[in-house]
Amino acid sequence: MRYIDPHIHMVSRTTDDYQRMALAGCVAITEPAFWAGYDRNSPQGFYDYYTLLTTQEPARAAAYGIKHYCWLCINPKEAEDPAFARDVIALISEFLDRPNVLGIGEIGLNKNSKNELIILEEQIALAAKYDQMILVHTPHLEDKLKGTKLIIDAIKRNGDIDPGRVLIDHVEEHTVNTVLDAGFWAGMTLYPETKCTPQRAADIIEMCGTERLWINSAGDWGPSDPLAVPKCRFEMARRGHTPETIDTISFENPKTFLSQCEKFAV
Ligand SMILES: [Zn+2]
Repeated sequence: MRYIDPHIHMVSRTTDDYQRMALAGCVAITEPAFWAGYDRNSPQGFYDYYTLLTTQEPARAAAYGIKHYCWLCINPKEAEDPAFARDVIALISEFLDRPNVLGIGEIGLNKNSKNELIILEEQIALAAKYDQMILVHTPHLEDKLKGTKLIIDAIKRNGDIDPGRVLIDHVEEHTVNTVLDAGFWAGMTLYPETKCTPQRAADIIEMCGTERLWINSAGDWGPSDPLAVPKCRFEMARRGHTPETIDTISFENPKTFLSQCEKFAV
């Protein structure tokens, strides 16, 4: 069976991971711009990162038959200095026409700080200006529910963003309904032990159904598992979910959401 991992940071994974994912049935991934494990000291560092996400990574993925797409932004963890963040944001528009760029992401909040919120609002405005889809990061560290509500309010305040073109990621049991009830798509990030495990994700699917919901690995430089999506499919099959339900959550739903950008094809 084929699947899409719609949130994984391959820049910090090995080429062997691409091979393992391909063998497990992965046909496409999307890679949001994020914190690379260290703070970058200059906008040029982000320029080089965007270049990598739009050139080298798609080529590395293609060698294993995996289509690579990406999202561009300055992540909230590096957005504490508004002047620096604005210099980075000014670089993004020249990359938006590249063939594998799907939109703006992963924007959001990390510590729910005032400066993070200012830069979040400016990147929501950037998405509106260029009619881009949005992928949102919700905080792990501080109050996730509070951060999720602040983000939803910021998107609604803009007025030009269709919630159906926004995916709010890293939802858990206490935030998933807030996101879905407001008309957004929701992503469940599967971590090996902490946060949302494949078992907890299967529980959430059993509570909420599969409408406007997807699963992803968010594999990155930290403890994470690039095979988390096939492992969650295995957990669902073990519980007796139908192949159709498993296909919906791990292939059809991401395909439906991502296909709102005409560049996406699987
Ligand atoms: Zn991420």
